This record gives sequence, C-alpha cells and structure tokens, in this order.
Amino acid sequence: MGLLDSLKLSPEDKEARQNEKFMRMALKEAEKAFSINEVPIGCVIVKDGKVIAKGSNRRNKDRNVISHAEMMAISDACKKIHDWRLDDCTMYVTLEPCPMCAGAIVQARMKKVVIGTMNEKGGCAGSVINLLNTPGLPQQVETETGVLQSECSEILSRFFQNLRDAKTTAKSNITAANEDVAESSEAAAPEAAPAPDEPVPTEPTGDAMPKTPTTGTSEADGVQ
Ligand SMILES: [Zn+2]
Repeated sequence: MGLLDSLKLSPEDKEARQNEKFMRMALKEAEKAFSINEVPIGCVIVKDGKVIAKGSNRRNKDRNVISHAEMMAISDACKKIHDWRLDDCTMYVTLEPCPMCAGAIVQARMKKVVIGTMNEKGGCAGSVINLLNTPGLPQQVETETGVLQSECSEILSRFFQNLRDAKTTAKSNITAANEDVAESSEAAAPEAAPAPDEPVPTEPTGDAMPKTPTTGTSEADGVQ
C-alpha cells in the first residue's frame, strides 16, 4: 500500500492496523516462551506509539509464580520510564490476563489492554470476572478483545498438542520397556515369576517428558 492509500485509511482502520502490528510483536514473545517449553503467552507495552517493554511467560524457567508475561512487561516498563504509573500505556497481550496480572494492570493504572484470545478458565477481563472494569476499583481500564484471535489461540493449541504427543510417546516407550523386561525374564527363567526387585519403570522419567508445566498437564492448569 502506498503512502496516499494509507492516508485514506479511516481512524478505525489505522487503529486496527496498529493493534495487529503490536499483537504480532506480542505473539513473537509468546513464541519465545514456546521455545523454552513455557505456556506460550506474550506481551508488549506501548507508549506514544512505541514499544517500551516486552514480556514472555517464564514461570517454570524462573520457578516463580510472578513470572507471567504481563508482570515481566510491567516490571520492564516501570524501569524504562522510572515510574510505577503506566497511565499513558497500552498493553497488548496474547491471552486474557489472570487475576494477578489484571490486578497489576489496575494498580499500574494502565490506560488500555488489547487482548488476543480469551481464557474461559481463569481470565479476569470478562471471562470469569472483569477486574479491569469493576466499579469501586481505582482504575477502569479500556479493553479490546479478539485482535489476531486465531493466531493467539492457535499457538496455545499447538503447545498443548505437543505436550499430549510427548506424553503419548513417553507412554508407548514405557509399554515397550515393560515388554522387553517381560521377554528377558521369560528368556532367563521361563517358569519363574518376575523378580520382585526388577526395576520396572512406572513413571515417565526420561527426556521424552517436557519439563512444563510442572503441576498438572490439563489446559486449565497450564494456562495462566
Ligand atoms: Zn497472569
């Protein structure tokens, strides 16, 4: 598109383009999380049309419950502008924030939050509750949802599918190992019962299991 064409865009179209541009950057952060086996959630914070902070989920890597994408980005933004108030800032986040992050967004007096996909199992920007717009809280945060929704949802589905595939592979490896053990004990002593101290693996212990998430593997547990 040429300069003249872009000048013809309506303010709404321009805003939609901006939203997509920044959400793509948040998605890049989500990919970073994916690459280290974290639930892929990413976030950027924009002030005056520029990205001032980025964050990706690192909860397992850091072994820290606070290391959600939004918290990382808020912390980064506060350092950059030397203030805890982010009232001129807009956050772009791939997944609807959890109670902790929504709380921090309100506390930071963030102006606006743009969300990729909603989280019915814990989202606090309207899915379970709406902390961003609760009368009586110090800040009402403007919200917009569904920006690059399919991309933001797809990366999560891909992550959890990989996790399920890894579990299936681990299970079939165990079955094969158990069969090997059974065969070798039959070969050694066909009449004998398997030795009671024979080490038969019952839990996946190998590298086939991803390291994340550490507690539970359902999507409800894995998503922040
Ligand atoms: Zn969170």
